[in-house]
Amino acid sequence: MAYDFDLYVIGAGSGGVRSARFAAGFGAKVAVAESRYLGGTCVNVGCVPKKLLVYGAHFAEDFEHSAGFGWSLGEADFDWTTLIANKDREINRLNGIYRNLLVNSGVTLHEGHARLIDPHQVEINGQRYSAKHILIATGGWPQIPDIPGREHAISSNEAFFLKELPKRILVVGGGYIAVEFAGIFHGLGADTKLLYRGELFLRGFDGAVRKHLQEELTKRGLDLQFNADIERIEKQADGSLKVTLKDGRELATDCVFYATGRRPMLDNLGLENTGVKLDKRGFIEVDEQYQSAEPSILAIGDVIGRVQLTPVALAEGMAVARRLFKPEQYRPVDYNMIPTAVFSLPNIGTVGLTEEQAREAGHKVQIFESRFRPMKLTLTECQERTLMKLVVDADTDKVLGCHMVGPDAGEIVQGLAIALKAGATKRDFDETIGVHPTAAEEFVTMRTPVAG
Ligand code: FAD
Ligand code: NDP
Repeated sequence: MAYDFDLYVIGAGSGGVRSARFAAGFGAKVAVAESRYLGGTCVNVGCVPKKLLVYGAHFAEDFEHSAGFGWSLGEADFDWTTLIANKDREINRLNGIYRNLLVNSGVTLHEGHARLIDPHQVEINGQRYSAKHILIATGGWPQIPDIPGREHAISSNEAFFLKELPKRILVVGGGYIAVEFAGIFHGLGADTKLLYRGELFLRGFDGAVRKHLQEELTKRGLDLQFNADIERIEKQADGSLKVTLKDGRELATDCVFYATGRRPMLDNLGLENTGVKLDKRGFIEVDEQYQSAEPSILAIGDVIGRVQLTPVALAEGMAVARRLFKPEQYRPVDYNMIPTAVFSLPNIGTVGLTEEQAREAGHKVQIFESRFRPMKLTLTECQERTLMKLVVDADTDKVLGCHMVGPDAGEIVQGLAIALKAGATKRDFDETIGVHPTAAEEFVTMRTPVAG
């Protein structure tokens, strides 16, 4: 049967664009549908604008620290409207780049909401198109628990477009987004509280990292409230919000920002017209090669709920394009040793196993840890400390995990990830000459284990 397209991609986000471009480059006839914004979550309401806001927030401490180096600046004044307008301009520029990338690689772009009609047909803007393969790359959407007053809360989608910086804000959640945005709002001068339902935030990260970040954020004056959960939110006559916690406490604020995870974006996608199945958590179920229960339909990225990170969606997109149209170049995505950063202030950078995971997996471990005051702060009053930690297998000497809390941790951990992927041992680390004077050199100079 002749199809209109070899591949029809639904969603022009990180994974969809990568897959479409590569497939077209391999000679396939490809279309991509996008209902909202080119570049998807990462470019529009995720990684990119978030990092720009983190840079913005960082200036507050830079100005403060500069005094120790002899600078005297006038009273610092921050204008949210300027930051958001400049951020929007940059995102518009990136949208244009994504459009050119697609068009120049020969991909047909359909702007509108795509819906599956059957296993080989998609409907968009009243038109139907057939395709041999359909790739669902529709990403995710913020999930806010169904509590009374939920309509008064915002998610990350809205946070990027607030008309003004709230004077007081409650950030709810203890994952990446909550921790990053609490740092952004606090850095920009809002009176910020982070509310997390458990004992300690960032579940799944190394215990020492979680504790260290808790201490550092507390030193900076961020109000961390653990074992705290909201029961209801009520709007007051003056426009402010009254928040009642499950323990009966009441808090007054101007904005409640929920960052409590993301659900798959399946709205009005027409999955019921196909044999696609969902897993227990509601994400699209796929096999190792991203094929759903419907053989002509594949899915990648956040909508399959494996690892919700842009570089992972990119790798999955590339794997699909290769498997379908360049099988001789196909390599499965390796989900081991995925490095990641939390762009809190200070950053977390991490790759490999946490101490807890290594012990649980039965490794006999040696732990190396270093805590120090970064050199840049020695001429300032700031008492911030950096943490670096290595988890080593005592039997094989292999480094199982590297963890850091401190300036540029994300940048530092990217290089370490290559070493770990290549199977580096602690001895390889020890025999590597440091770059002096840097913080990163500490990773090759830790000699005495703190725990075995
Ligand atoms: P998306 O990028 O979400 O793209 C899906 C696209 O599909 C969207 O453009 C959507 O409009 C479109 N779509 C949906 N349904 C339809 C339909 N029916 N028809 C047509 N189009 C449709 N990851 C990192 O690695 N580093 C970070 O620093 C980072 N920061 C983040 C910060 C925030 C606030 C958030 C929310 C996420 C962040 N992420 C980060 C995660 C990252 O953004 C996602 O993992 C990544 O964007 C997933 O890519 P995707 O292709 O699966 O989906
Ligand atoms: P996460 O899954 O990282 O964290 C969700 C948080 O919300 C957890 O602390 C969870 O608590 C809490 N939570 C969940 N449900 C509720 C509830 N009903 N009431 C109260 N608290 C609740 O999700 P995020 O929204 O922070 O981010 C989504 C994903 O996007 C991340 O997992 C990550 O993959 C990606 N991302 C990556 C970034 C990066 O690379 N720097 C930055 C931002 C996002 P508990 O732990 O107790 O379950």
